[in-house]
Amino acid sequence: MSTERIYNFNPGPAALPLEVIEAVRDGFTKFGGMSVLEISHRSKAFSDICDEARMLLARLLAIPDGYHVIFLHGGASQQFAMVPMNLMDKRADYAITGRWSGLALKEAKLFGKTHIAFSSEKTKFSRTPRPEEIDVGKKTSYLHITSNNTVYGTQYHEFPDTGDIPLVADMSSDICSRPIDVPRFGLIYASAQKNLGPAGLAVVIIRNDLVKRRYRDIPTMFRYQTHVEGESRFNTPPVFAIYVMMLVLRWMEGRGGLTEIARANEQKAKFIYDVLDSSSFYRAMAEREGRSAMNVTFSLPSEPLARRFLDEAKRRGMVGLAGHRQVGGVRASIYNAHPPGGAQALAEFMQEFERSR
Ligand code: PMP
Repeated sequence: MSTERIYNFNPGPAALPLEVIEAVRDGFTKFGGMSVLEISHRSKAFSDICDEARMLLARLLAIPDGYHVIFLHGGASQQFAMVPMNLMDKRADYAITGRWSGLALKEAKLFGKTHIAFSSEKTKFSRTPRPEEIDVGKKTSYLHITSNNTVYGTQYHEFPDTGDIPLVADMSSDICSRPIDVPRFGLIYASAQKNLGPAGLAVVIIRNDLVKRRYRDIPTMFRYQTHVEGESRFNTPPVFAIYVMMLVLRWMEGRGGLTEIARANEQKAKFIYDVLDSSSFYRAMAEREGRSAMNVTFSLPSEPLARRFLDEAKRRGMVGLAGHRQVGGVRASIYNAHPPGGAQALAEFMQEFERSR
């Protein structure tokens, strides 16, 4: 395989490590004369893959005893509904920091009363809340946050302490990008297609006591208990996605784990933020304290200029940089697998483009 890969800034599905792509190419037919796509999800070979993926995630994120890790279909969007279906009694609280938390809130409204504990909508979602800004009710079933806002490029750098109220986090766009303190959370979910692997898979980390909560009738497939008891194989799981995720998790461990990965991510983000901070041509969309190490968003003085920027970047082998369709401008998604050379090349191109104006 050519190592001259293009610099991929796509927001998800996103870049995967080249070593993983090569390991998939070389290894996926090696399951007793069959490929991993052709073996039973109940076979020992696949059971070993699932166990290894679970163990690697537990090691990387330092998940303590008392939590279950399950792999589900349906992406993060299904979790928008499964969380309230399973965990919400009469009321649930949501911190709204962008498009995805808004969509999560919309689903919760189907199941009970919701309370907006924080919203940065007035400032176009330019920031995440400081812990003390979040207004959580005492009689709420949980507080839901979105740890990284993929669209606007903001990220929590400090999580609220919700005491006995479970903290639920959508970590789709920053899971495994940095160490986190899992015991602060009741439930964490993430779709895989940014930091963990291919689309079609969501990871849920759920505290034991939340598994059996039951406030309503829930179809079997949508109960966390079903998948905990079925060890993520109640029905046929997305086998290929789980296999590739396992290889990505091995790659993360080989890189030195999440402390090292976080350091590399900070360094990549710094290349681009340094240019933004010293420029009056580009305008960063996120406020400094809440900006994301995963999605760096900025605008140019006009949309035609932004289009020229994107065209020229593409000619230089940098793709996937267009901002979300609701926001415009530029978004550089620099997840774990995005190489430092890509962020550096973008930073250099930004300076050159500004000079040429
Ligand atoms: N939450 C966040 C933070 C996301 O970035 C996305 C997808 N970009 C989703 C949820 C939705 O994920 P999915 O498409 O897997 O349902």
